[in-house]
Amino acid sequence: MHATIKDSYQVVIGLEIHIQLLTHSKMFSSDRAEYGALPNTNLSPVTLACPGTLPRVNKKAFDYAIKLGLACGSTITDLNFFARKSYFYPDLPKGFQITQDTTPICQGGFVTIYTNEGVEKAIPLIRMHLEEDTGKSIHGVVEEVTLLDYNRAGTPLLELVTAPAITTGEEAYQFLYEIRKLVRYLDICDGNMEEASLRCDANISVARKGSKQLGVRVEVKNMNSMRNVQLAIAHEIERQIALLEKGEPVIAETRNFQVDSGETISLRAKETASEYRYFPEPDIPPIWVSKEWIESIRKTMPLLPRAYFIKFIEVYGLSEYAASVLTEHKAFAIFFDELCQHTTYYTAAANWLLGPVKGYLNEQSLPLEELPLTVDRFVALITLVESGMVHFSVAANQIFPLLLQQPDITPMAVAEQLDLIQDSDEANLKALIAEVLAAHPEKVVAYKNGKSGLLAMFMGEIMKNSQGKANAPLASKLLESALNSTS
Ligand code: ADP
Ligand code: MG
Repeated sequence: MHATIKDSYQVVIGLEIHIQLLTHSKMFSSDRAEYGALPNTNLSPVTLACPGTLPRVNKKAFDYAIKLGLACGSTITDLNFFARKSYFYPDLPKGFQITQDTTPICQGGFVTIYTNEGVEKAIPLIRMHLEEDTGKSIHGVVEEVTLLDYNRAGTPLLELVTAPAITTGEEAYQFLYEIRKLVRYLDICDGNMEEASLRCDANISVARKGSKQLGVRVEVKNMNSMRNVQLAIAHEIERQIALLEKGEPVIAETRNFQVDSGETISLRAKETASEYRYFPEPDIPPIWVSKEWIESIRKTMPLLPRAYFIKFIEVYGLSEYAASVLTEHKAFAIFFDELCQHTTYYTAAANWLLGPVKGYLNEQSLPLEELPLTVDRFVALITLVESGMVHFSVAANQIFPLLLQQPDITPMAVAEQLDLIQDSDEANLKALIAEVLAAHPEKVVAYKNGKSGLLAMFMGEIMKNSQGKANAPLASKLLESALNSTS
């Protein structure tokens, strides 16, 4: 589609994100809420909605919702009611879902995203409410039969609804990225979109630029990765603009994203609230969230990604890039912060984590927690390089792998054993330099006539003749003064 046509429309996107909470038991029963159990093993009469059973509210689910609410600056609702949202579906044993309708646990707040152009944008939230998940229908495993697994039925979900304030697929991607980071820092959800513990529906509408009314919105479902959310939105924007350009209306409906074609197809007409016949859940008394409860949660809040990010830049002097990569995962942020309590070589510590450590962990598919290296050993390794005893590349390629296999040896012992300590003896280095200069008299003349690029060539020779052991910064200093003093 031509850019000028696209430019004459304004796009509005609101996301609904279902966050599966990492509680041990379900939202309204003591059935286990674990992922991946044998089908239909985490069931009790409550989950199956047998007559006479009653729901009982999971306090941990409230704790987790309050955590995310505090992290987003939301208002926490004190008096919480639950409601029944009725619809029929085989994976919904009760024939209704217990959810919060008029009193979502969190109201308002915002999440700050960072666009690729480096611009910050606060996306306002409308609400977050607690509800229970459905079971799973499994099609296609047995021909012409739908299998039902009720393990997931009743597991706690926190549904987060954004204001229609997102304008591109890229921003939606960034929003999900920030939410995933947040829920992982807070330990309330594993954030895994591929396993559907984080699910996103996107509401998308387009309208002519300058129009005061929002366009007709289409809801897109079934996007199981952040990349797919971005692709589905991009496709949907084009589809809607193309319709309007042809003079055809956009229909309010729910559409399904098709991973293979990258397109969306119509699923059903959009339900309206009245079709769900919301009414107050009579079996659950109102839940009162006291100020004391909220304060007790506030005390357990970890440092959040944004706080680490600012600390890493302002206190440790890292670049924005390094700070953002190091705060992507909580374990990295904590480990780096810990390292910086034991060394002042902050940038070097960051480079070690971003380079050799990340490389090793990726290669082995290990989380940082399984890095077999204590903070002390790591600091000793960094110091070995920064004090000029060993080259970084030598330390990274020879000492680091050995330390991983034998975490009990000190980096210094490895360096000595393998004879890797750099030569920092000035007399030795000067002799080495004199030798190299004597071997290339014509290059020395060329250098003096202005070919300063030859410095690198001389350094290369010096490093080669020393078997890589010359202290490079020192040798380079001595080389320059040797070149400048001879006439
Ligand atoms: P429903 O409960 O019917 O899904 P909501 O009012 O809860 O409707 O809104 C759901 C989502 O749709 C929210 O994220 C909201 O920002 C978004 N939304 C509302 N109107 C529009 C619109 N015209 N275009 C795009 N998104 C919209
Ligand atoms: Mg909705």
